[in-house]
Amino acid sequence: MTELFSDDDARARDAADPLSTFRGEFHIPRHESAEMAYFCGNSLGLQPKGVRAMVEEVLDKWAREAVEGHFLEPAPWMPYHALVREPLAQVVGALPSEVVAMNTLTVNLHLMLVSFYRPTRERPAILLEAGAFPSDRHALESQVRFHGFDPATDLIELEPDEPEGTVSMAAIERAIGEHGHRLALILWPGVQYRTGQAFDLAAIVRLGHAAGAVVGFDLAHAVGNLPLRLHDAGADFAVWCHYKYMNSGPGAVAGCFVHERHANTERPRFAGWWGHRQDTRFRMGPRFEPTPGAEGWQLSNPPILGLAPLRASLELFTRAGMEPLRQRSLRLTGYLEALIRERLSDTLQIVTPREPERRGAQLSLRVAGGRERGRALFEHLAAHGVLGDWREPDVIRISPAPLYNTHADILRFARCVAEWRRDQNH
Ligand SMILES: *Cc1c(COP(=O)(O)O)cnc(C)c1O
Repeated sequence: MTELFSDDDARARDAADPLSTFRGEFHIPRHESAEMAYFCGNSLGLQPKGVRAMVEEVLDKWAREAVEGHFLEPAPWMPYHALVREPLAQVVGALPSEVVAMNTLTVNLHLMLVSFYRPTRERPAILLEAGAFPSDRHALESQVRFHGFDPATDLIELEPDEPEGTVSMAAIERAIGEHGHRLALILWPGVQYRTGQAFDLAAIVRLGHAAGAVVGFDLAHAVGNLPLRLHDAGADFAVWCHYKYMNSGPGAVAGCFVHERHANTERPRFAGWWGHRQDTRFRMGPRFEPTPGAEGWQLSNPPILGLAPLRASLELFTRAGMEPLRQRSLRLTGYLEALIRERLSDTLQIVTPREPERRGAQLSLRVAGGRERGRALFEHLAAHGVLGDWREPDVIRISPAPLYNTHADILRFARCVAEWRRDQNH
């Protein structure tokens, strides 16, 4: 056993880490009599213990005050969404007026496309990545058709150019150079869900804007994972969900960013009464006057029970801070990478870029020997309380979430892989 593979070493790393105490704020799922090593925070984040009280507060208010709960302190429902605005703006690096929690990711993407994808005969095209998350592709393709254009020519899907299936900045630049004059929109991920590759958002915005295109981002795998600077990056819009790294529960209310420069836009939008100016909303007039900023895209009064978990979760992000969390994430994922490179590289090939600035928490691991062997390893891990997630045909994604995963979890994963391999070879 080398130093790196020892329990003492993992324990010492956890003890030295100032953010280790946040694990105690979460319900850790159990496997048989022990806690799981849970690495699926990129799919469904764990439940903060504070969520239950936050949800019960809403239930109690509803039971006791009914309609007056809209106005009565504490946490009246009428301005409830504003309770999450500032902490959310901190997480994504935006002005409070640039963010809103509403709907779900794909719904928000469509609402943004209504305003920001305005194809013309000269500029009908959208640039996206080949192998995009299916919902994003469905949304984009259906929007292209909705406007009477042809996805075969107007949905430009950039193929990965790097050996592991990642995309270089040079390839993005070439694609924008080649298609720029026809591009209405670029939609790009902050972190690619399959490979875990992180992108330089500001650089993509610069290139896109220079070509005359609108630039939007899907941050499903980036928010709560990497510190973001959406305002400074100059993104036109962004959408994301809150059930992955943001730990706000299955189907949580999602997020949306609209850059300040569009705060009072004349662009068309699909409108609803909750996007109407707050000060005159209840005059119930027929004419829509949008709230300046991202809140102007709200349609309905928000699900308060759905916002309550986000409120509880954001308290943890505010306390931890995205920069310290990122530092811890670099340590955890760096440790995972070191264990794999030292001992497991004949079994697991790391698909995610090696450079820390080109990835977040997740490492995507291709299992040597193909699908059957990969499935066998995945199931062995699960049977031992080590939960990653499986991506066809042969990839296991392991995502140490900096709020609750530990070096000890990671060592347990690496040991479990080593044991499985030893048994295989017998
Ligand atoms: C998780 C994820 C989604 C999920 O969309 P919902 O509308 O929340 O169901 C969409 N796009 C990407 C890139 C994702 O990672």
